[in-house]
Amino acid sequence: ADSDTKTGVTLLGATGSIGLSTLDVLARHPERYRLVAVTANTDVAGMLRICERHRPELAVMADTAAAERLETALRRGGSDTRVLAGNDGLVQVATLDAVDSVMAAIVGAAGLPPTLAAAAAGKTVLLANKEALVMSGALFMEQVRRHRATLLPIDSEHNAVFQCMPDGYIAGQPPQGVRRILLTASGGPFRTRRLDELAGVTPAEAVAHPNWDMGRKISVDSATMMNKGLEVIEACWLFAIEVDRVEVVLHPQSVIHSLVDYDDGSVLAQLGNPDMRTPIAHALAWPQRIASGVAPLDLVGVGRLDFEAPDLDRFPCLRLAYEAIRAGGTAPAILNAANEVAVAAFLDEGLAFTSIPEVIEAVLGRLAPQPAGSLEAVLAADASAREAARELCARGRRQAVS
Ligand code: NAD
Ligand code: MG
Repeated sequence: ADSDTKTGVTLLGATGSIGLSTLDVLARHPERYRLVAVTANTDVAGMLRICERHRPELAVMADTAAAERLETALRRGGSDTRVLAGNDGLVQVATLDAVDSVMAAIVGAAGLPPTLAAAAAGKTVLLANKEALVMSGALFMEQVRRHRATLLPIDSEHNAVFQCMPDGYIAGQPPQGVRRILLTASGGPFRTRRLDELAGVTPAEAVAHPNWDMGRKISVDSATMMNKGLEVIEACWLFAIEVDRVEVVLHPQSVIHSLVDYDDGSVLAQLGNPDMRTPIAHALAWPQRIASGVAPLDLVGVGRLDFEAPDLDRFPCLRLAYEAIRAGGTAPAILNAANEVAVAAFLDEGLAFTSIPEVIEAVLGRLAPQPAGSLEAVLAADASAREAARELCARGRRQAVS
């Protein structure tokens, strides 16, 4: 009877920042949720801790060698958790009958296949993996509609917008009476840095976000504001709205998470402390509300809320994202793949911070967008953009040292 009344949850990307915050919320409500499956890429130690503490039925390592090490360690500890491996394992746990809700919290394009599979299986998809939607927006939303999946945004801005939508609103439908969506952005660690210093910033400086504690890739995206660019594209698909009606406003305190501007002049906003457990708890319990562990907002302590227009010279990635969604087809997939490669090169191979938008712009200039109607077309665009970006990153580093 237990398994009938509890919501069965699969957590894709359990060892990451969103994954650990999700486990924290789930552990506060053992009477409501059953953790069916957790997944990770290569972090065996992290996965072992999760299995010991949260006792999922299944654990998937995308990396096969890591899966073998996890299996050995779990058997030694006498655990009941079964281990699966590889992309097939990810897709399998995203589509199991016992699973009602799938938290999609893998970072980057790697998350697309299981997230799309969850939508095609008609699951409730809690979407943190914005890259999946940016790459395959038309295709993804089509699967959601066709298979009557429920799509709930985890990205704090989109979760805020969703909360400010009319009663009964369903993601993917054009909202009635909405004039604009306003996405707030903190501006990241370099909002006020001198422009001539940006080329020399280090990965450690770039991942030190002033308000949010997140994975490395999204932290760099926040520093370049590509994160906001991806979020503009994400908003167009989630809320079926033209890009010209999605605006970005800098709000350094990260207390207003986004706003919806209605035809009658009403502007609704969602506020809260910058802690991802709020949108996670909202989506897990929707349409009900549950405790998340987030402290009450202290408005007097916050004191003031500031707003500025974003500077597209400082943040060319935001301009490139607007251009990509306007170009349509596979352009957002190309933008996303080039960005993933350039960010990895910045983090691990010494590519200059300011070369990230240069690489992306060059890749977008080289590859013409194609129709994005099939998964094959999207994955082909992703692959060619990665190849072009790797070549440009290698060239960029040679020029930097010579
Ligand atoms: P993270 O780097 O902390 O964690 C990423 C997770 O994905 C890990 O569990 C890792 O094992 C898994 N993973 C990585 N590569 C994989 C691969 N190739 N195959 C299978 N699994 C793989 O990232 P995060 O900060 O938790 O972000 C996760 C997603 O949520 C991203 O798409 C990000 O944009 C989005 N998001 C995060 C935040 C945040 O506050 N961290 C906020 C909004 C949206
Ligand atoms: Mg966000």
